[in-house]
Amino acid sequence: MKNIEISIVVPVYKEEEVIEEFYNKLVKVMEATKFSFEIIFINDDYPDSSTMVVLKKICQRDPRVLVIGFTRNFGHQIALTAGIDYARGEAVIMLDSDLQHPPDLIPDLIKAWKQGYDVVYTIRQDVLGEPALKKLFSKLFYLMMSKISDVDMGFNCADFRLISRKAADGFRKIRENTRFIRGLISWIGYKKTSLPFIADQRYKGKSKYSLRKNLAFALDGVLSFSNFPIRLISFMGVLISSISFIYILRVAYYVIFAKEAIPDWLPITTITLFLSGIQMLMLGIIGEYVAKIFTETKNRPLYLLDKILGEERA
Ligand code: UDP
Ligand code: MG
Repeated sequence: MKNIEISIVVPVYKEEEVIEEFYNKLVKVMEATKFSFEIIFINDDYPDSSTMVVLKKICQRDPRVLVIGFTRNFGHQIALTAGIDYARGEAVIMLDSDLQHPPDLIPDLIKAWKQGYDVVYTIRQDVLGEPALKKLFSKLFYLMMSKISDVDMGFNCADFRLISRKAADGFRKIRENTRFIRGLISWIGYKKTSLPFIADQRYKGKSKYSLRKNLAFALDGVLSFSNFPIRLISFMGVLISSISFIYILRVAYYVIFAKEAIPDWLPITTITLFLSGIQMLMLGIIGEYVAKIFTETKNRPLYLLDKILGEERA
């Protein structure tokens, strides 16, 4: 068998209406590139789902197609991970199955890879037909992440990207459960570049990302790549305790200079502010430890090597 140059990884969840059309478009684009390729569909659903029936048919007539069938819905990010695990190509391209990620962009991704980039990610300039509110939330999310996260994942990036064999092998070493792939792809490093694109409307069917799923996804991103929320507790604690010092000065004023008695509310307010601030600070410190435990249990590899020079001399 000829070596596989490109693996295409496609997570699929209840997409029986779109999958044939997607497959046809993809194959057309790939055949025009003259690269040898495989297509890996991950059916992220029960084995008896109607999507699986369609995928089986495609797989039977095309030997370039591999179908990984999950036992249930594990989620988009896990499906992508499984696809990367099974990919055999020299480069791995992942994209959605609903034609929102235009297969026409694939030749450009490959071109950038051939120029020597290990990670070629894409940036959504616009998403046709997306509600303005979702666009706004998405913008705010990436703005916030750019300020608080430990890795730079770029604005409006999509799960539409190419990674080289080297980068895919690096990525495969990460086995943590909560997987915010946009962040992880940034975390692995390597030589990277980005391409802009305009996301089309979904070809058919409904989005599988409900508001709840989207919020959970955003929270995964924050918790996996930022300790800022915990730091915020400590910061608030210090702030509230500091405010109590203004009141301490007022108490001192009454004790030293004022002729009249201290108003009832003043000592109580002072103590409450001071103590609740201290409590928050303590909570924040405990949080720092919990965050450390969380980081450790993620078991991310400590580093990834790109290459070792002079190895042949060793
Ligand atoms: N998907 C998946 N598992 C899920 C949800 C989605 O494999 O639990 C797939 C889905 O079939 C599609 C891609 O992930 O190929 C993106 O999902 P969708 O288009 O519904 O999300 P949106 O583009 O609306 O954010
Ligand atoms: Mg979509």
